[in-house]
Amino acid sequence: MTTDSVAPVNGVSELFQLLRDGVPRTRAELAKSTGLARSTVAVRVEELMRMGLITPVADAVSTGGRPPSQFAINPAAKVVIAADIGASHATVAMADLTGKVLSEKTGVLDIALGPEPVLSWLMEGATELLAASGRAASDVAAMGIGVPGPVEHSTGQPVNPPIMPGWDRFDIPGWIHQHMPTPVLVDNDVNIMALGERSVAWRGIDHLMFVKVATGIGTGIISGAELQRGAQGIAGDIGHVQVARGADIPCQCGNRGCLEALASGPAIARALRADGIEAYTGSDVVDLVKRGNIDAIQAVRQAGRDIGEVLTICVSLMNPSVIAIGGSMARVGEHLIAGVREVVYTRSTPLATEYLSIVQSVAAEHAGVIGASMLAIEHALSPESLSSGFLRV
Ligand SMILES: [Zn+2]
Repeated sequence: MTTDSVAPVNGVSELFQLLRDGVPRTRAELAKSTGLARSTVAVRVEELMRMGLITPVADAVSTGGRPPSQFAINPAAKVVIAADIGASHATVAMADLTGKVLSEKTGVLDIALGPEPVLSWLMEGATELLAASGRAASDVAAMGIGVPGPVEHSTGQPVNPPIMPGWDRFDIPGWIHQHMPTPVLVDNDVNIMALGERSVAWRGIDHLMFVKVATGIGTGIISGAELQRGAQGIAGDIGHVQVARGADIPCQCGNRGCLEALASGPAIARALRADGIEAYTGSDVVDLVKRGNIDAIQAVRQAGRDIGEVLTICVSLMNPSVIAIGGSMARVGEHLIAGVREVVYTRSTPLATEYLSIVQSVAAEHAGVIGASMLAIEHALSPESLSSGFLRV
């Protein structure tokens, strides 16, 4: 390494990884946690301060003019841009380095318009949010984007996404780079929701499944503290698993009896309509349940049982400790979850369910955008990014 190199002092990121949780620590505490000599810690703390990534924290007790002895991450050193692009709506947000959303913009946006109009909306939104807070594009440490389809995570390209015409193999990071030179991470929307849910409500939990029940049904799987994407980015795509009860019901994928054809919002609406009840969308079903319509409540509970049937297999495979149910249909409240619990707790082995919580998503409609910001932060603050010198502020 030459003397004018911009790479930080060797091992500086190791110290920073400790401080990322926001808890202020003294040099002595940092030395104890890392096993490094006090003198080495002092040099690395100076380097992180020079990079702007950590900041001195005032001591609780006045030190009578002595220099501050505690340090913590400086959340405002950089920002990340997070986007949650759904089938018909999108949200773009700006967050600090701890994942706190600082501002956001939501719009009605049809993913089927294709990549250029949708990504243009996203970039315009990002530019607006940055300008409104006096931030420059160079302040963006990374961008995280969730899309409603399978994604090859290493390249950020959607792969054969069924409801995203024109997006197959589209180079999302490449397109963004023409407008903003920042690292771009792209993932499936349910995967980022799992990251968001864990960040908001289950930080210490390493085995979590997030189930999105909306127009489609899918899960994001965190196992061993890592998001599991599988070989083609479709791990957790349970919407087209066959459920016995629906053997005759056609699914838009071409098969029959898929979970999605039975238990998604539109599927429940269709079943109610067949019984003469006016319901055309998942939203109509939610409204009926909230008004106490018994048929709608029973249909939602049955959908919960159908989802539970498939989740029982997932529980046997993955042994999660939390299953969080989210997506627009989760707004029906306990009726859906009661159906899921009824089946999973009855059909799984006692050991698998002894400590298993099946709960409503806490992050709810914010899960996606918070998860997208976590995806961006994980990349931006990784030891690799730090040692590349990219984050120098
Ligand atoms: Zn299907």
